[in-house]
Amino acid sequence: MNYNKKLKLIINHAKIYGFIFKSSEIYNGIKSIYDYGPQGIEMKNNIKKFWWNYMVKYRNNIVGIDSSILMNNKVWKASGHIKNFNELFIINNIDNKIYIIDQLINNIIDNKLIKIKNKNKIKLIFNYYLINKNINKLNLFLKKIIKKYNLSKLFKWENINNINLMFKTKLNSFDNDQEKYTYLRPETAQGIFVNIKNVKLSNRLKFPFGIAQIGKSFRNEIISKQFIFRTREFEQMEMQYFFYPGQEKKWYKYWIKSRLKWFYYLINKKKKYKLKIHNKLSHYCKFAIDIEFKILNKFKELEGIHFRKNYDLKNHNNLSKKKLYFYDNKAKKNYIPYVIETSLGLDRLFYSILTNSLKIENINNKKRIYLKLPKFISPIKIAIFPIIKNNKIIKISKNIFNSLKYKFTTIYDENKSIGKRYKIQDSFGTPYCITIDFLTLNNKTVSIRFRDNMKQIRCKIKNLIKYFKKKFDISLFFKKNI
Ligand code: ATP
Repeated sequence: MNYNKKLKLIINHAKIYGFIFKSSEIYNGIKSIYDYGPQGIEMKNNIKKFWWNYMVKYRNNIVGIDSSILMNNKVWKASGHIKNFNELFIINNIDNKIYIIDQLINNIIDNKLIKIKNKNKIKLIFNYYLINKNINKLNLFLKKIIKKYNLSKLFKWENINNINLMFKTKLNSFDNDQEKYTYLRPETAQGIFVNIKNVKLSNRLKFPFGIAQIGKSFRNEIISKQFIFRTREFEQMEMQYFFYPGQEKKWYKYWIKSRLKWFYYLINKKKKYKLKIHNKLSHYCKFAIDIEFKILNKFKELEGIHFRKNYDLKNHNNLSKKKLYFYDNKAKKNYIPYVIETSLGLDRLFYSILTNSLKIENINNKKRIYLKLPKFISPIKIAIFPIIKNNKIIKISKNIFNSLKYKFTTIYDENKSIGKRYKIQDSFGTPYCITIDFLTLNNKTVSIRFRDNMKQIRCKIKNLIKYFKKKFDISLFFKKNI
């Protein structure tokens, strides 16, 4: 199946089965913004819990916070986002399309139809101009390349545009001392940096320690075609790990290894992951690596692991004039801690899991579509079906539902044929369906049907809780890997 067809299938499946809807769909939506439906929110919460347990709950030197989306605009001045969080792009006069400069350069250089000599050297020159924000020279160099390789029939533009990606918003403030405007945060990290003192003191933390949070971020992206891969409103799961300067290699290695273990447990296909070292670094970053995942047919960034040195704390220290340095007893001096950040886009991960899990099989000339989600991520864990609407069977079914629902996300469904109910649960990615039938009335057993191979077994009602506890228990992973 080709890329567009598969993407369409996924978007359709996500809508029909209540995972993801277009935001404000009845008004034709709003570009690059999405809502999560009943299955979507359950699955999202399960992913968050898996991340939170691994990164925060089961470690004794990482704590969580939930900082505000709107902050004093000086935060964004100090962080460099007002000055540097920009996207460069051109509007191509030939096809009237917008091209982000990074992507345009990569498209030209990596295009197999264009025979370019000294590709690496050209890339280096582009990166140099990009990092130094030398837009005039970049424009001239790009135009020279276009001319040299006869691409003028494809690309023509006047200037390179430079636009800030933050959403600016006005505050209704009539007090002269107050800020009049601020921004929707483009990353959750700054909420962590500005709170470091509060968190350290309130929890008596000693370096090295981490602060984590999950929350919404906003970027006014220019091009955002790929469903929930690149959106204007998205959720990040970020952790900042602070330590004494000089330990950066140790913690950088540690976090790459640690994060990979987490990803491999979630989607156990090592070949689908790739590590990519960054050439073009963000304004705050000293070195960085991306964990990429093959979504449909292309490797794409899921998580960035960045060494931010003490760029952010130093700038906040300087601008706020509040002491964001700490005393080291061994070295007998003050220092501003360094930081390694792990920054994962929840929506991108959600998308990766969906694309990786959607299975289409042909069984007896009939198409079977199901979501082979990791069991502990599935929105619904167990579905309970009385085989027919018989009073005795319904009563037992509801009793079983009531006994399981406090331990596992369980649903009860007595409508439509049993085949149709299985089909719906397969599409939700529900790993187990319990059916209560006439045999149940005789021997107090039920059938458990497995999503992946559609096989069934019988299980005594009294053993159900024990059986499913074992099936959904992932504590061994945490014990082995933290
Ligand atoms: P990209 O190069 O794809 O724009 P980035 O390198 O700017 O991403 P970071 O600033 O490192 O991204 O943000 C950390 C993570 O947040 C990314 O790895 C990604 O998973 C997620 N993310 C960033 N921008 C978006 C977006 N517009 N939509 C969804 N997720 C995003």
